[in-house]
Amino acid sequence: MAKTSDNPLIVQIQKRWDSLVLANPELQPIAEFHREVCRCIYRSPVQGPELPFQSDKNGVPSSSAKEKLKQGIALLQGEEELLDFTLPVSFYRELLQIAFSYKHTLNPHQNLASSRSFLDKVITGARSMIQAGKWYQNQQDIRQLFIYVLQGNLDRITQEAEQLHISRDLLLTLLHYSLMPVLQAYGTRLKPLLELDLWTQGNCPICGAWPSLSELRGADQIRYLRCSLCGGDWVYPLLRCPYCENTNHEKLGYFFVEGEEKKHRIYVCEECKGYLKVFPTLDPTPAEFLNLEDLATLHFDVVAAERGYSRPYPFQKL
Ligand SMILES: [Zn+2]
Ligand SMILES: [Zn+2]
Repeated sequence: MAKTSDNPLIVQIQKRWDSLVLANPELQPIAEFHREVCRCIYRSPVQGPELPFQSDKNGVPSSSAKEKLKQGIALLQGEEELLDFTLPVSFYRELLQIAFSYKHTLNPHQNLASSRSFLDKVITGARSMIQAGKWYQNQQDIRQLFIYVLQGNLDRITQEAEQLHISRDLLLTLLHYSLMPVLQAYGTRLKPLLELDLWTQGNCPICGAWPSLSELRGADQIRYLRCSLCGGDWVYPLLRCPYCENTNHEKLGYFFVEGEEKKHRIYVCEECKGYLKVFPTLDPTPAEFLNLEDLATLHFDVVAAERGYSRPYPFQKL
């Protein structure tokens, strides 16, 4: 196996965090944790997984893919039972161990409240889960957890988290990270089947998740929604809320975080109280970096929450 230091993706992730931490040293603990996660999940490329439905060999959209998109159903939605969860199951177990043995001591006076609470949840949750002897579930049980996540069955995830003595947020974080590489591989495989002019929804046309951020791209400032789980990338009107589809511009707005006026905005909807981060970019952010950029701006989530806005879990049914 290639050494971590030879893996170009891990090196790039490392460099991106280095520059973010240089600008904001308070990001250090979360950067370290995220780098460890990435060293695990991205250590070797995922080979193109078997597609759950038929397409012809030239990659021309199969009629079922086209029909789904027309009906507003993401390509992987409804196919959950057919997906290959071998890798996510082993990542899930490894990530639990990483969170458990994570040595970084969090300095309450030094670190951003947002990253501290995120890490606190992950680390203390993993410890209590392992101490309760619950960490080594059988493969079939873990596989079922992935299916619940993708189906947006939050009730079942909540029940499972209670049985494991951890918070639902920790369980979801572990499951989402474990799923990312394989969903990104599906995203790449399914790209030729995506006819985006058929897709008018606010959620991801590939996996069905809500966007984790959006990009105002190029000189035309067209808004692209981005899915950090599969890397999905689709155009969505700036004056429409992706969650509730509200188009009343008097109920749509945005705000800045002080000192970051030029870099980021947070778009909000007064109708459903949802929010979405917006990053100006020239080029699309690579799939493997979307979660990184989202984590590096956790302080925005804190500000949005203070103002009464929230965003749904990736597969939450609204
Ligand atoms: Zn997606
Ligand atoms: Zn809304």
